[in-house]
This record gives sequence, structure tokens and C-alpha cells, in this order.
Amino acid sequence: EEEDEKTLRSPICCIMGHVDTGKTKLLDCIRRTNVQEGEAGGITQQIGATYIPAENIRERTKELKADAKLDVPGLLVIDTPGHESFKNLRSRGSGLCDIAILVVDIMHGLEPQTIESINLLRMRNTEFIVALNKVDRLYGWKTCRNAPIGKAMKQQSKDVQLEFDHRVTQIITQFKEQGLNTELYNKNKDRGETYSIVPTSAISGEGIPEMLLLLIQWAQKTMIEKLTYSSEIQCTVLEVKVIEGLGTTIDVVLVNGVLHEGDEIVVCGFQGPIHTTIRSLLTPHPMKELRVKGQYIHYKEIKAAQGIKITAQNLEHAVAGTSLYVVGPDDDVEEIKESVMDDMRNVMSRIDKSGEGVYVQASTLGSLEALLEFLKTPAAYIDNLKEEKKKEAAEDAVFPCVLQIMPNCVFNKKDPIVLGVDVKEGVLKIGTPICIPQRDFIDIGRISSIENNHK
Ligand code: GDP
Ligand code: MG
Repeated sequence: EEEDEKTLRSPICCIMGHVDTGKTKLLDCIRRTNVQEGEAGGITQQIGATYIPAENIRERTKELKADAKLDVPGLLVIDTPGHESFKNLRSRGSGLCDIAILVVDIMHGLEPQTIESINLLRMRNTEFIVALNKVDRLYGWKTCRNAPIGKAMKQQSKDVQLEFDHRVTQIITQFKEQGLNTELYNKNKDRGETYSIVPTSAISGEGIPEMLLLLIQWAQKTMIEKLTYSSEIQCTVLEVKVIEGLGTTIDVVLVNGVLHEGDEIVVCGFQGPIHTTIRSLLTPHPMKELRVKGQYIHYKEIKAAQGIKITAQNLEHAVAGTSLYVVGPDDDVEEIKESVMDDMRNVMSRIDKSGEGVYVQASTLGSLEALLEFLKTPAAYIDNLKEEKKKEAAEDAVFPCVLQIMPNCVFNKKDPIVLGVDVKEGVLKIGTPICIPQRDFIDIGRISSIENNHK
């Protein structure tokens, strides 16, 4: 373990920002180019995360001639939208994310969820860079596929450069109104006090090299201590999933430490702590589509930071968004069982179960918490209601907003009501978990149709 004291783990990065700014596309862009071009150190799509090895980052940033000295083994980008990773996922000690990319659409500037994201980042004291995305949409933009943005800007006409400068100036002003100093990355002399803005295009790839380099440099410069590998397990359950042939599995992000096949673990369960043994540690095959059946690599042990699928018995009632503990030889299992339920108890203690109300189900403990908060102050989320109407609505009903999205559903005080949003499909469903306050996750204004899957 001597050697471990000096090694660094991969920083964990999440992507935040308003809906449609290009968060998913940016991640796609980072992944796909590499798949297609078969560059050095292939990126592996892990469970709930994308791992970009240092080798790959070196390759993609070499045009910058920055001679990036990479001390970290890579970068682990969490696929879950940032709001989720921050609000819903608890990880013992620190939060799950070390660093974040705040995505802003250059054509739109700061939007409501940009501001929510800023507030979350502030609350967690998380370092971030701003990706000013969709530069290719500037009128007359000349595509320079995957080029450094510095180089791409030089290829642009005067008009494009003027429009760019104008928009950047406006956006810097908007940030200032939020109390944040920002500056274009190449003009930023005061990193630490001033956040860097990197212009990007997730479609044609301009600026991705600078974005990757900045993330790595900043992480290595400011969070060495946090990134120093520790053998103490820090692990968060991202999702609980039933997989054909494997039974109920949990997808976790291992932030620190090593997990072994056969390790005795304790996770939080809806019906109390779950004490079980790791049957297998799995990741998808590199480059393989995640959903392809049977495409898993088995590991005897895995070291942080990684995204892993764990199979074990009795995981049916595991709660996503909580910490996983490993029982060491000197540990008291009963103590660990107590700790593992802390988060859950905390949330549950805030619910009044004595009177009338609705039954709430959510995909993670964090969502549940957020939803409960939401149900308490629903009108606050109805942006287009006038102030006095909001108040009225809040006093009037339990959740006027939620009623709107629940056709064919009778509110019976005793009935369990499960609300649901499936944003990927653009469809609202009754029966899948909801997490309204995570606006990153749903865009209420864009929901196209509503279904009732109780049919
Ligand atoms: P998210 O909601 O933030 O994850 O946004 P998406 O990644 O789903 O992107 C939203 C829309 O914007 C999609 O239609 C993308 O194709 C488009 N988009 C994303 N990034 C860019 C970009 O850099 N340039 C252009 N022109 N379109 C983009
Ligand atoms: Mg997305």
C-alpha cells in the first residue's frame, strides 16, 4: 500500500447546465471521435460513466503543444446529468464529483438551469469550467473538425469573430450578475478567482482539446490531495437494475479504494440494511454498446475511480443514491449496518406519515428527497404562474403541478400513487419514477405526450 500513497486516482467529472445546451452531445463527441478514429488508449464506456484514459487525453491535446504532464490515470466522466450526481448521489465524505463542466449555449447565454447549476456548484464548492457550446451556430462559422478552438477561431471571418466577441462579452456580464467572474480560458490570468470559458462545438468538435486539457490541468493543480488514491472505500450506488441472467444488480461508482470479488458488502435497502457478498464485478466491453446482452468483462478486483456493475444476492431492495460499504476483517457489521441506513433515516424522518398524502416512489434516495421537497412547495416550480397565483396554488392543493401530468389517475388518499417521467422517450408515464425538481432531467415544457401504462 506504500505505493498507493503516491498515486492519484482519476478525477470524476460531471456535466451540468440547462436542457438542450449539448451536455449529452459533448459526451458523445468525446467518445465517438475516438471510437471512429481508433486513437490511442481507447475510451471505455463504463457503467454510468465514461472513462477517458490519460493516453487518450494526451493524444487529443497534442496539437495544443502543451506537453500536458498527466499525473492522473485518466478522467472519469459521469454520464448521469450533473444535477442528479450532485443532488441524488451521496458519497461518503465528499460529493461524487471532483470537477464539473458547466455547459452554456452561446446562442442563449445563461438560462434558468444554468443558474441552478451555478448554485449547486457553489454550495458544494466544486471547481468547474464553462463550455460555451454550439459555436458552430455562429452565422458563417467555418468548420474545423476537432481542432483546438484557438486554431479554429483564426480560420473564421471578421464577422464571425465580432459576433463571437459580442456574445462572449454578454455572457461574461451575465455571469457577473450571478456574482461569478469568468473569462475566456486564454485570457484568464487569475484562475481560481476567475472561471475559464472554453468555446466548443459538440457537433464538429472544435474546442474539445482545450476543454480536456483545462479539466486535467486544473484538477492536477488544485486537488492533488483529494485525488490522492486512498484505500478507504468510497463508493456510491448509481442505479439498481434487473439484468436478464444476472438478477438484480447495482451499478456503482467507486470513487476510492479497491473492490474484490467475494468482498462482504453492506448497502442501504428499503427494508433495512442489505448484507451480502460480491458475486461478480463487471464492466461492459470497451466500445461495446452497453445494452448488448452478455457483453461484460469480469474482474477479480477493480481499483478506483471506476464505474462498475456488481452482482450479488438480495439486492432487490437496494436504494440508489446511497453509499456502499465493505466489511473489513476488523469491522463491526452491526455498526456498518447502522451507518448505511443514515441517509435513508435522515430523509424518512422528514416525512410526516401520520396524515393524508400521496405515496411517493423515486429512482434514488436523492430523487425521493427532492420530490418530497417539491410536493411541499409545488407552486414554486410553476414558472409561468403569476406570483399571487403561485401562493394560491401552494395553499390550495397538495400539488397542483403534478395533477396536470396525471391523467386517468384518481387520487385516492390510500392508494399508492407513482408518478413518472421518462424523459428519454419524451413521454410521461405513470409507473416510472419522477424527479420533477431535477430540471436537468425533465423539461416540463417539452413533454410531448402522456401515457398511462396501467392499461
Ligand atoms: P442536453 O439536453 O444538454 O443533453 O443537450 P443535447 O446534447 O441533447 O443537445 C440538444 C440539441 O442540441 C441536440 O439537437 C443536439 O444535436 C444539439 N447540439 C448539441 N451540441 C451542439 C453543438 O455544439 N452545435 C450544434 N449546432 N448543435 C448542438
Ligand atoms: Mg442530455
